Amino acid sequence: MSEQVPPNVVILGGGSAGWITACLMHQEWGARGATITVVESPEIGIIGVGEGSTPQLKAFFDHLDIAENDWMSACDATYKLGIRFTGWSERAGYESYFHPFPGPIDLHSEPAFVNNCGLARRGFDVPAHPDDYFLATVLAEQGKVPHPTENFPFEPSYGYHFDAYKLGAFLREYATARGVIHRAAKVKDVERKDDGDIATLKCEDGNRIEGDIFVDCSGFRSILAQQALGGRFLSFGENLFNDRAVVMPTTHDGLYKPQTDAIAMRAGWRWSIPLTTRVGNGYVYSSAHISDDEAETELRQAIGMEDSDTNARVLRMKVGRVENSWSQNCLAAGLSQGFIEPLEATALHIVIATALDFMQAFEAGGFTPEHRDQFNRQTAARYDGIRDYIVGHYRLNQRTDTDYWRANAANQNLSDGLKAMMTAWFTHKDVGACNAEVFDQQYYSNASWHCLFAGYGTFPPAEKVQPLPQQLKAADMESVQNTLSVSATNFLDADNVRAHESG
Ligand SMILES: Cc1cc2nc3c(=O)[nH]c(=O)nc-3n(C[C@H](O)[C@H](O)[C@H](O)COP(=O)(O)OP(=O)(O)OC[C@H]3O[C@@H](n4cnc5c(N)ncnc54)[C@H](O)[C@@H]3O)c2cc1C
Repeated sequence: MSEQVPPNVVILGGGSAGWITACLMHQEWGARGATITVVESPEIGIIGVGEGSTPQLKAFFDHLDIAENDWMSACDATYKLGIRFTGWSERAGYESYFHPFPGPIDLHSEPAFVNNCGLARRGFDVPAHPDDYFLATVLAEQGKVPHPTENFPFEPSYGYHFDAYKLGAFLREYATARGVIHRAAKVKDVERKDDGDIATLKCEDGNRIEGDIFVDCSGFRSILAQQALGGRFLSFGENLFNDRAVVMPTTHDGLYKPQTDAIAMRAGWRWSIPLTTRVGNGYVYSSAHISDDEAETELRQAIGMEDSDTNARVLRMKVGRVENSWSQNCLAAGLSQGFIEPLEATALHIVIATALDFMQAFEAGGFTPEHRDQFNRQTAARYDGIRDYIVGHYRLNQRTDTDYWRANAANQNLSDGLKAMMTAWFTHKDVGACNAEVFDQQYYSNASWHCLFAGYGTFPPAEKVQPLPQQLKAADMESVQNTLSVSATNFLDADNVRAHESG
């Protein structure tokens, strides 16, 4: 066995984070002799929300060589081509926009979009709404699945919606069938060595579980990373106000668009996520601006459930991150490591990236501080970079109707990176160059940043808009539209594909 593969890895927690980490570690290290054990308390259970992903979840399944046919139906999963934001801006013409996962075909239309945004930022009258430029937007609108026909070798980027309980159960079965050890036990105490490392988890049933590396996937409790090791938690509360969510499912008639809807509410926003069997709904709000009862009432009204006896579930969210994800012989992953908020559905994305980066760092240097510190810097930067993009959604909002939205628009607690991006946009500088400089273009693409700014209509006010002078050239919209509409004909709609595959 390589010295850099730990013989005995113990993962505390059997939520999505625990099982995703177990699958990845078993795949990389299992064949080289490592034992991976997942300890979870059935009595405590899992949080059971988190129904949307980024394309990173597709990469995860591809990495494990698990085919969509094998897991999607087991998890009631649907495709996700992006997120439609509705009601975040009061500007006419910008009531709604789609944030797509950009794909290869968009390389043709993205320069046109960036060009027109540049002109619109200077007050010229050109089309600069993101909905006109991306293939995923067209496919979502037409209810198509992201698999092209054979003669069209340009697969778009996409994620999924899924049932969080069923995803956990699927991964548990997958992992245990391949040798991951599953122990149902409640951990009540943690023993440490003289050097501060974790030595043993003491369970309520009297058993003791020893390990070389411990992964804390115990959810918001963060039993190892924060409670046992005293890891510092850095709150994002100053720039992300939402700290609760009220959730409730509804039924659907079998027809759905492959997109998440993120709809602005009085003190936050609500998601609407189509699974094959139901719609997941959740209102994410700030408890400083609305009570739990008011939020539940507003959600029920929005989804037509005022008179229903379906129970709503209120969840508290601890928004922020641990200062160091890897401390002593413990890696924090999932909610125990941090949580931004679900607006861009990035939590599992970070879990996957954390596990992969950790294994790489560990293999390179074992417990040496150099690799650990580099990993911690990289992981912290990922959290902060994703946070900044999400904070942008609130800071740039153009609503004036409630204290919540006005407080968000007036928020001055912005990172230097987000300030730089906003300055670049409003002073007509190159947003892509700024993204490269401050974020190394790592967390959100230039297309995503342009979608955010342009989707809200953050252009000079309508009365200042002027005709485009002849010497400036706007994008050829006919060509862009043609490319997108012809490309879309190479994709089948969801029902056709199901019929085609089962036939
Ligand atoms: C409102 C909301 C919406 C979200 N939406 C999304 C989304 O759209 N997309 C996304 O990617 N993520 C989303 N998330 C985050 C997502 O839910 C989590 O990242 C994901 O479920 C992983 O959770 P976890 O495994 O870290 O924690 P949990 O699911 O809470 O699992 C914790 C595990 O630890 C175990 N445990 C705890 N204490 C002990 C103990 N003493 N002994 C033994 N076992 C113990 C529990 O039994 C459980 O198995 C959302 C979160 C919230 C709050």
